[in-house]
Amino acid sequence: MKDSSLKSATQARVAVVTGGANGIGAAISSCLAADGITVAVADLDLDAAQALVLDIRKQGGNAFALPLDVSDAGSIKHAFDTVERAHARCDILVNNAGIAGVASFVECPLEIWERVQKVNVTGPMLCGQYAARLMARHGWGRIVNIGSISGVRAGTGRTAYGTSKAALIGLTRQMAIELAEQGITANCVAPGPIQTPLTHAHHSAETRESYRRTVPMRRYGTPREIAEMTAFLCSVHASYITGQVLAVDGGFLAAGILEV
Ligand code: NAD
Repeated sequence: MKDSSLKSATQARVAVVTGGANGIGAAISSCLAADGITVAVADLDLDAAQALVLDIRKQGGNAFALPLDVSDAGSIKHAFDTVERAHARCDILVNNAGIAGVASFVECPLEIWERVQKVNVTGPMLCGQYAARLMARHGWGRIVNIGSISGVRAGTGRTAYGTSKAALIGLTRQMAIELAEQGITANCVAPGPIQTPLTHAHHSAETRESYRRTVPMRRYGTPREIAEMTAFLCSVHASYITGQVLAVDGGFLAAGILEV
């Protein structure tokens, strides 16, 4: 790392965590704040963002709530303008906001398909553009895209969601190679099933039983387990890792048959 880059990395860093108010995003926001990073908890759900900000401040961290709808290009521009005006920097972007939309391939309605691609792919691309421009000023940056095992393996009903997460892996690699010379890394964390409001709403009893049988660790992961990997990738310690997909999935992607 160049001296100027090292200085930049160790100054008070600023992170934008999209969908940072609930579930996995909330754990990531808290984990980054505990590492001394100022966190913009960027979310549609402003009440939850403000509640988390209070909690982070109680623990001695720095955070602020940032209204953001990643499906709206104008909202993304406004959010990054706010970050630039308030802090003049963005060192870390975690593209975590995501939605599901379960429907079979043949039945998948166009509106679900388009909505999921907009939130899960177009949003991260636009956020990445704004963040990378700010990161390039200091020659240092970290982008972590929260993908899914569904972007690597197909799953029943995951036509819109799985395809969007596969696209996010492609986007991660594209970001990684084009931003590498500017000191910016881009990686994708692919969670397995994690206990959050999203899975609470979308995972049926059959889905839960299916994961119990196919995840070698025989359990759902916790938001904290995803946050720890993300925080590592955002740290100075992950300086030579870029363009990678890192599964945090209890062994799901490694598995073949589990019962004989
Ligand atoms: P969640 O639904 O519990 O939380 C998502 C957060 O994103 C919420 O705070 C919500 O308000 C916010 N959000 C939704 N749409 C938004 C938008 N348009 N703009 C801004 N914010 C928005 O979800 P989660 O389970 O914590 O998932 C977080 C990420 O992890 C998603 O990208 C998801 O696809 C991925 N993921 C989750 C699991 C899992 O098992 N929970 C597994 C693999 C991948």
